[in-house]
Amino acid sequence: MPDHAAPMIILGAGHAGGRAALTLRDEGYDGPLILIGDEPHLPYERPPLSKALLKGTMDLSGCSLFDPARLADLNIQHLAGNPVTALDPARHRLQLADGQWLDYARLLIATGGRARRLPIAPEQAGNVLYLRTHDEAVALRTALQPGTRLLVIGGGFIGLEVAATARALGCQVTLLEAGPRLAGRVLPERVSAALLELHARNGVDVRLNVAIEALQGTDHVESVQLVNGEQLACDRVVVGIGMQPNIELARAAGIDVGQGIRVDEQLRTSAADIFAAGDVCEFRLHPDGEFQRQETWRNAEAQGRHAALNMLGRKLAFNDTPGFWSDQYDWGLQTIGQIAPTEPDATRALSTGGFVLFYLDHQQRLTGACGWGPGNSIAKDIKLCERLINSHIALDARQLAHPETPLKQLLRS
Ligand code: FAD
Ligand code: NAP
Repeated sequence: MPDHAAPMIILGAGHAGGRAALTLRDEGYDGPLILIGDEPHLPYERPPLSKALLKGTMDLSGCSLFDPARLADLNIQHLAGNPVTALDPARHRLQLADGQWLDYARLLIATGGRARRLPIAPEQAGNVLYLRTHDEAVALRTALQPGTRLLVIGGGFIGLEVAATARALGCQVTLLEAGPRLAGRVLPERVSAALLELHARNGVDVRLNVAIEALQGTDHVESVQLVNGEQLACDRVVVGIGMQPNIELARAAGIDVGQGIRVDEQLRTSAADIFAAGDVCEFRLHPDGEFQRQETWRNAEAQGRHAALNMLGRKLAFNDTPGFWSDQYDWGLQTIGQIAPTEPDATRALSTGGFVLFYLDHQQRLTGACGWGPGNSIAKDIKLCERLINSHIALDARQLAHPETPLKQLLRS
């Protein structure tokens, strides 16, 4: 049984953790509340790290969820630089790096993930950079001087967004992707092709199907040797080859773990009074669906809030529609619902040069959509797609594809 005099503890002072702390207070919880992080900062949103913050047009305060004054006002105890090293679910307590044990009434694990390391990169090479945290973004910004020869390894979201920002900062950029297309595990072929064309037009040398033989240099990588014999000289290397969820504490404590920390529909883990949210959380959107993790802003926001409500005993099932965006140069990608790297069921070409791709289920109901267009021009269509998904209306693929049929009209059908 939880000790109700013990604090609520949030492990992980990132986006999901910060949102959960704010929600607990917004919802009237006025008991002790501790937020534990291993970064020196208050919770912040990560999307600007590869965009505005990397470009230098935003600072930490621009992406923080709250400032020190609000933290004090809300009476939230923030422990930074003293990470959690062990969980003891049976005794409702956890241990900090300094050896101290803390009891909790309820615990949220929102430990996110870390950048996957490139095994062949020399450990001590100072010019091989990763991007997950604010401090890494600041280090990268310092490294991206005009004329820098930047080699980006990985054609996923980090690689593509960093490449776009680096071009804006005047760097020479070569991007190496192991697969046959950009962001090919997540995005449909047509979007991969549009991304390739956009980056090529902006001067990035994109190489697909690339296998790296070695990074040459010891304390400084000077070039990258490809398996095909080619050698690419560089000043800096950025590695964006995926994220590894921070599941080790949960696993060591005997909590059910798959690719992430497994939760039920209320975001409860297999241990009593422990919840999980955000990138680290593996959940099912439907009782008979597959377990999945979502590595997105929207999911961190929704699950952080949702877990907090259930920590307060609301017993609400989580069923938020997934979605994410990416901004590169002056183009934007937005998705809603379940999209796949496979062929869509309908494609609508837009007068802007962009498009919307639609995914339908066997009853012709919209399950997901993916839009691509200049600036934020796609946002309205994606909002309408969200309404179409939630309406569960059967749709005609030909009408979806027809640019003259307003999506709003389909909502009324
Ligand atoms: P995090 O924000 O990673 O927070 C977890 C926190 O827990 C971290 O501070 C970590 O240090 C801490 N922690 C871990 N272990 C411990 C421990 N033992 N003790 C104490 N603290 C611990 N998504 C989009 O939808 N659109 C975008 O454009 C977009 N851009 C992105 C750009 C970048 C550069 C990155 C890195 C991500 C981007 N994302 C984007 C993804 C989005 O930011 C993440 O999905 C989101 O941050 C996940 O939030 P989280 O709270 O689960 O994890
Ligand atoms: P990612 O999106 O998973 O992409 C990694 C890419 O690197 C994949 O295309 C992968 O190809 C490729 N790759 C893997 N190993 C490689 C190798 N050895 N050489 C060359 N290419 C290799 O991961 P990420 O871009 O590193 O992003 C990390 C995290 O940040 C994710 O959680 C992501 O969602 C988040 N993020 C999100 C956004 C956004 O939503 N806009 C923006 C930035 C970051 P294969 O798939 O073929 O392995």
